[in-house]
Amino acid sequence: MKNESFHCDNCGKEITKHPTGSARNHCPFCLFSKHLDKDFPGDRASECKAIMKPVWKDYHKNKGWMVVHECIKCWKKIPNKLSEDDSVDVFGRL
Ligand SMILES: [Zn+2]
Ligand SMILES: [Zn+2]
Repeated sequence: MKNESFHCDNCGKEITKHPTGSARNHCPFCLFSKHLDKDFPGDRASECKAIMKPVWKDYHKNKGWMVVHECIKCWKKIPNKLSEDDSVDVFGRL
């Protein structure tokens, strides 16, 4: 996984690199993601590239809180680890 800055396709905010250097794969403001990975996290092999919306939260005993993203185009669901600076407001409403 790469730690990179990008623009959020949902809210348009510029997302800076993760403060602690771990990979960022969703927007910390609205928690939307983008369908870039195909078979495993960080492979960037998907042809889809549609936006993925946060649909629910899940608690994983080893990884902690996860956000489950669902692609608006192909309906694929991918769970992602929550980052320290993700919006707790948005996460709390999932
Ligand atoms: Zn956003
Ligand atoms: Zn997709």
